[in-house]
Amino acid sequence: MAMTINPATNQEVEKYPDLTDDQLDRALERAHRAYLSWRETAVERRADVVRRVGALMLERHEDLARLLTLEMGKLIKESENEVRLAASIFTYYGDQGPGFITEETIDVAEGQAVVVTQPIGALIGVEPWNFPYYQVARFAAPNVVLGNTVLVKHASQCPQSALALERLFRDAGAPEGVYTNLFIKADQVARAIDSPLIAGASLTGSEAAGASVGQAAGRNLKKVVLELGGSDPFIVLDEDRFEHTIKAAILGRLANTGQSCVASKRFIVLEPYFDKFVEGMRAGFAGLRVGDPMDPQTQLGPLSSEDALKHLEEQVNDAKRKGAKVVIGGNRIERPGAYYEATILTGVTPEMRAYREELFGPVAVVYAVDDERAAIELANDSPFGLGATVIASDLKRARAVAQRIESGMVWINHPTASAPNLPFGGVKRSGVGRELWRLGMQEFTNRKLIRTLPADVKLEMAAG
Ligand code: NAP
Repeated sequence: MAMTINPATNQEVEKYPDLTDDQLDRALERAHRAYLSWRETAVERRADVVRRVGALMLERHEDLARLLTLEMGKLIKESENEVRLAASIFTYYGDQGPGFITEETIDVAEGQAVVVTQPIGALIGVEPWNFPYYQVARFAAPNVVLGNTVLVKHASQCPQSALALERLFRDAGAPEGVYTNLFIKADQVARAIDSPLIAGASLTGSEAAGASVGQAAGRNLKKVVLELGGSDPFIVLDEDRFEHTIKAAILGRLANTGQSCVASKRFIVLEPYFDKFVEGMRAGFAGLRVGDPMDPQTQLGPLSSEDALKHLEEQVNDAKRKGAKVVIGGNRIERPGAYYEATILTGVTPEMRAYREELFGPVAVVYAVDDERAAIELANDSPFGLGATVIASDLKRARAVAQRIESGMVWINHPTASAPNLPFGGVKRSGVGRELWRLGMQEFTNRKLIRTLPADVKLEMAAG
């Protein structure tokens, strides 16, 4: 059952029944049929639809933003930013996408060899609640321009945002079956992937969900893209422009109330600057205005749900029990809704859950290290490898450190962020594949070789 529960009050707002298996099968058939004609539709027309989705998002930005805040507690100004970012992704692929569908010629001794880029079919995308529009845009925009069709199983806690997206595609002129919202249970996703009508699957979410979708795709020998969790390091190498460093650290940790895969989660600071850094962050956390996420003055809103809060609480309590020091926070906030204090932990050791697990909320772990080498070692001592930040005024030094970090993205002097024209994705348990930029359009493609030889070519046994 897909259900809106306002996390600022924990009140149920709206619920929607899940599709039956038969209804799901019919949706898969419609998406497959739509693919057969969508792939033959001129790319300019496909791109127009996607560009129009971006324009409509901007026209409807106030209503769309309010839905995000209602369904997952995002601060209203962050919701507006998300709507703009998602719209910019649709616009980007509408404008640039056709140019990414390339035909590449290979030098050959005789005749001609080209590799053309073609779509592969109907895809299922499984999406998380933390960025309900932006995540879908990353998956849907490039694939719809390419000629694939998409079915989206959104997180069950943001059904109204999911319906709003489907409406945008319909109003932008997408034919039936090009974009389909699916209200289905997590365990029906495997049924969709098992169907011969589905050509590939993409999931953004937790490791457990990623493993489950990866397994279903694997047994069906289908292409999969997985965008999973992260525990991004934020490495501080000097104390130049310290105010900027503290601001970046607070922004990196607290954006989206800390519920971002690329939030800075582990702050790794060279020993001489450690105390000053912890104090700077503490002062920033102490001054936050807690309140209703719909109020533009609020700086710390609720977590996305009561379950999310309980999970974070258990992780912090485990660290406290095992001897971590709580510099500030460390408890839920006593008011209605899923509110948790902005928290700083130090003295975290490998036997604590907070050392290896992703902390999906406003909880920062700060470590002191002796030198740059120790900073890199600690940064890489994580099952995840999504983003990372290096702070230093010596850009050459920062770049050398960036080179040695095991992650899909490193940002120098800025917390990890996202833009349509920058590739996004991770290594290790953060996932496989890339979204955004032209790489985001190359995942679900057939790079077909067409080798042309003269009709009178001498025949030889080919290898392979
Ligand atoms: P989640 O519980 O894994 O849910 C994500 C989606 O997967 C939801 O639609 C969920 O459906 C579905 N799902 C859950 N279990 C499934 C299963 N066994 N089979 C198929 N689908 C399943 O994750 P979340 O809590 O919503 O999202 C937070 C996680 O996403 C964090 O770890 C975060 O770091 C990660 N994330 C990664 C990126 C990235 O780009 N790398 C971006 C954003 C978020 P239901 O809602 O119905 O359970």
